[in-house]
Amino acid sequence: MTASRLDFRVEAVASDSRARAGTFRTLHNDVQTPVFMPVGTKATVKAQLTRTLEEAGSQILLANTYHLLLRPGAEVFRRLGGIHQFMSWERAVLTDSGGYQIFSLPHSRSISEEGAVFQSYLDGRTILLSPELSIETQKAINSDIMMALDHCVASTADEATARSAIEITQRWAARSLAARGDSPQAIFAIVQGALFPELRRASAEGLSEMSFDGFAIGGLAVGEEKNEREEMCEFTAELLPAGKPRYLMGVGTPLDILEAVHRGVDMFDCIIPTQVAQRGAAFTSRGYLQLRRGVYKASEEKLDPDCACPTCARYSRAYLHHLTKTSETLGWQLLGKHNLHFYHQLMREIRASILADRFLQLYREKRDFLHEVDMDNPIRAAKPKKPRALQLGHYEVHIAREGFASVRHIASGEIMHSRTAPMEEARRLYVEQSNLAERLRVRQGERAEALIIWDVGLGAAANAMAAVRTYEEQAANGPVRALRIVSFENNLDSLKLALQLTDLFPYLRHGGPAGLLKEGRWKSRQHSGLDWLLVRGDFLDTMTEAPPPDVIFYDMFSSNTCAAQWTPEAFRRLFSACGGRAVELFTYTCSTSARVALLAAGFYVAKGRNAGEKEETTIALTPAAIGSPSGARFDLLSSSWLNRWHRSGAKFPVEISPSDHKAFEQVILGHAQFASGVPA
Ligand SMILES: [Zn+2]
Repeated sequence: MTASRLDFRVEAVASDSRARAGTFRTLHNDVQTPVFMPVGTKATVKAQLTRTLEEAGSQILLANTYHLLLRPGAEVFRRLGGIHQFMSWERAVLTDSGGYQIFSLPHSRSISEEGAVFQSYLDGRTILLSPELSIETQKAINSDIMMALDHCVASTADEATARSAIEITQRWAARSLAARGDSPQAIFAIVQGALFPELRRASAEGLSEMSFDGFAIGGLAVGEEKNEREEMCEFTAELLPAGKPRYLMGVGTPLDILEAVHRGVDMFDCIIPTQVAQRGAAFTSRGYLQLRRGVYKASEEKLDPDCACPTCARYSRAYLHHLTKTSETLGWQLLGKHNLHFYHQLMREIRASILADRFLQLYREKRDFLHEVDMDNPIRAAKPKKPRALQLGHYEVHIAREGFASVRHIASGEIMHSRTAPMEEARRLYVEQSNLAERLRVRQGERAEALIIWDVGLGAAANAMAAVRTYEEQAANGPVRALRIVSFENNLDSLKLALQLTDLFPYLRHGGPAGLLKEGRWKSRQHSGLDWLLVRGDFLDTMTEAPPPDVIFYDMFSSNTCAAQWTPEAFRRLFSACGGRAVELFTYTCSTSARVALLAAGFYVAKGRNAGEKEETTIALTPAAIGSPSGARFDLLSSSWLNRWHRSGAKFPVEISPSDHKAFEQVILGHAQFASGVPA
């Protein structure tokens, strides 16, 4: 057996530090460590040309087996000869095995000895990702470095869960290595063990006995404190063979990387440089800048006076501010280019300092500096006497006569939860009707798939928080299945506004909403089974990005404000996104046009309970939900409702053109829901 396909050589180890510089040889190029690998999840580093990556100094990219297996699929890579030709990238690629995605993406999954069973978020089909399938896919992708499939658990997992995860990871590692066979591709194993030193040791020792080409530290940066992560990283790195590269997965900020190099890690990947660029932020020699800030509106300065990247060579902060404020893609691209340059420059400086044995000095300087935020335009704390803003963007706070606060859309005058306090309405309409508490409970030892809620129209997060609170209440009482909430929203101002006023919106006094706004997702520290993901943008465009739902809280503004979300076409797309699953949808409206639009899309439609002034609301069910045990509890619209509709004058949604009225009418009259009592 070949000793190591990478021929990793340590060139220098720093004094008074575990930092080391080395080189390894891939099938495409030599890689000098410590190295940062930009993340090209779906065979693209978001918004960046491969040429830009070459110019920035990227030596190796990370791509994602899980995503590429689903789309475009292994066969495309086989036919095109691998990912390098496919994406026009001639340097090295490392492919993640899919273990982390199986763990982190909010979709139903179950882990068995054989592998991880999950449901495709694209078409709902069930896939068994075994170690063999993962390696087979990575061979088709033809990456330079493959990762063995691991069972990743939250860093906050309990000991029994973490122990069983390292045991299965160990067995899967052996199967992955066997599946690699005589392929020239290198393969790394992944150490797990949460925050338990003895489990980390057992995992590291067990995996080190096998002939892997390198080792990764997995399961960190998933919910633990910074100091916990650093301690565990140092502890684990030391247990790994000195002659093989060590890779800390998914980490992190420039400061996190500096700290981990100091602790003996050689390789890193993280989405941060391109992700913060999308949000208008940049790492610079003058600190971390948020280009949205008004101070840059007319700033002629370069983004970073000390940077040699193409963005800094040509563009002013004023222009980048403008692109960011107008959400132009170019702003994302230019800031991403700079940020990648910043990361690679930092890695080059770190490597040079190790080779010159002055790492510790550099470490101290950088550690003090990398905390800095905008040194030229410091952000001052708000003056305490400043009157509170009760308005943000298109939204303002509305105080009801009863004394509770809610958010109003200024232009339309529509108020979210106008008649009942937001949490009360959220519980009544969404949590109780969906029977959420009951659905979360499981028997001791039972393994149930995660329940997925689509929270369509996050607003000021009342509905999602009602679900979060329900989960926390149930988890305090006994075993529960995992809950994943996916919130869709195209404008976050209403939540931002409410979060500034938590005395008026007390239900937001919780880590979830702030974490969601900051990171785009939030995982509960207390409950490993609870997480919350934000999908930004227009719901109709973004819904296919999310895993298919079990329950939908459909709480968009009404058709007066958001017409496109209530059409037969919108519901047809939603119905198809349900992928044949048993799905229950709850919405506050009882309008006839919304109900026929739902029926036309294929849903069954039932009466929901009253809310505020409305005597009724609406529940929609997929055919599979009708057949499920809980389907019987709904009061389906009857043929007398159908008769009323049939007789009424204004019975067609405005989107249906008159020439299609007849056909539309036939669809509604012929709906299986009314099969026993079709009107004459
Ligand atoms: Zn730059």
